Amino acid sequence: MAVDLSHSPDVAELVDRTRAFVRDVVVPLEEQHGGVARTEEVRTELQRAAKDAGVFAPHVSPEYGGHGLDMCGRAAVFEEAGYSLFGPLALNIAAPDEGNMHMLEAIATEEQKQRYLRPLANGQVRSCFAMTEPAPGAGSDPAALTTHAVRDGDGWRINGRKWFITGADGAAFAICMARTSGSAGRTEGATMFLVDADNPGMRLVRHIDTLDESLYGGHMEVVFEDCLVPDEAVLGEVDEGFRYAQVRLGPARMTHCMRWLGIARRAQDIAVARASEREVFGSRLGELGMVQQMIADNEIDIAASRGLITQACWELDRGRSAAQSTSVAKTFCAEAVWRCVDRALQICGSLGVSGDILLSRFLREVRPFRIYDGPSETHRWSIARRVLRRHDKESTR
Ligand SMILES: Cc1cc2nc3c(=O)[nH]c(=O)nc-3n(C[C@H](O)[C@H](O)[C@H](O)COP(=O)(O)OP(=O)(O)OC[C@H]3O[C@@H](n4cnc5c(N)ncnc54)[C@H](O)[C@@H]3O)c2cc1C
Repeated sequence: MAVDLSHSPDVAELVDRTRAFVRDVVVPLEEQHGGVARTEEVRTELQRAAKDAGVFAPHVSPEYGGHGLDMCGRAAVFEEAGYSLFGPLALNIAAPDEGNMHMLEAIATEEQKQRYLRPLANGQVRSCFAMTEPAPGAGSDPAALTTHAVRDGDGWRINGRKWFITGADGAAFAICMARTSGSAGRTEGATMFLVDADNPGMRLVRHIDTLDESLYGGHMEVVFEDCLVPDEAVLGEVDEGFRYAQVRLGPARMTHCMRWLGIARRAQDIAVARASEREVFGSRLGELGMVQQMIADNEIDIAASRGLITQACWELDRGRSAAQSTSVAKTFCAEAVWRCVDRALQICGSLGVSGDILLSRFLREVRPFRIYDGPSETHRWSIARRVLRRHDKESTR
């Protein structure tokens, strides 16, 4: 079978335009703000510039003002956007909005799309995705879900506590996962609800202080207390929430990898520039074998990550579940990106850990990726179980 890894001329052109936009417009703003966008003014300025450059919303369909890229196209464009911590925000492809848009396009009703997807896709509003709960609730094991929703008249009453809800501060709505049947430990019986931020039953409790700071809106603890929503707030079908979560999580896992791969490349570029000018012991850093090894290992990690992302996206574009390949890619990329930034920082010495360049910021930002979208251990556990099941199936033939 012939394998063609080239992109269509339209996608290739968008990749080039995104690269130039990020280099010329986004990186200077990112450096000016130390990699953390804290105000709506910054977000609006970035998004206006992305619209002017014709690179805004590459992932949503043209009907909602986007470029309608498939997963393989997204892989190339998101990597370019991810070259700066501000790139995803500028293009409106940052987490969690990007994953929410993907899911809304896939399963929302027409009315829900007009009300929630349209303003989200054009950057008018932001959103959040509320799944994780403090112990003993849902975390790496979503089936532990304790937040519940019960019938109340024509609608639903939601009660529960969520935390680590990225972007909750300032979001116009939340997609809240709640149990509508079964009990904690069961992998069925969850439903997704669209909850408007002005609902008096949804309360933002506190910002959680975390290692990372660049995901816009921070991470919050959120309480749903007798939160009443109408039947039209159900996203998809009742009791199908875990199935829909997969619609969001598989691609969202890959888009995180794409964006962070951009940061790995940026870290490598910073390290290579430093290695080619800094002199120690009478030679440039780049002429020393151990530094060359770190530069080479970064290239290997970057190339391998891109290859695994491409494989998983290829499967997703063909409508396959890609459960194994997204788990493999996510685990590898999360660890490879960390290794790349860490090596780059080592090459830069004390400059690397200083606030004079953004490497130490990158290191803080990439570390949590080994935990969200499934910790590495959870993915390795799933990968191994699939391999063992395959072995059992083949050996009984
Ligand atoms: C920065 C950040 C942003 C986030 N944003 C969101 C968000 O917007 N919305 C949302 O709903 N959630 C969000 N989360 C939560 C995230 O999805 C969870 O942290 C993740 O699912 C892990 O759950 P947990 O933290 O409860 O860890 P736990 O479930 O308590 O797991 C702890 C550790 O146990 C180990 N472990 C897990 N499974 C296995 C296994 N099978 N075998 C061996 N060891 C295992 C791993 O080392 C894991 O790190 C975010 C988290 C972070 C850090």
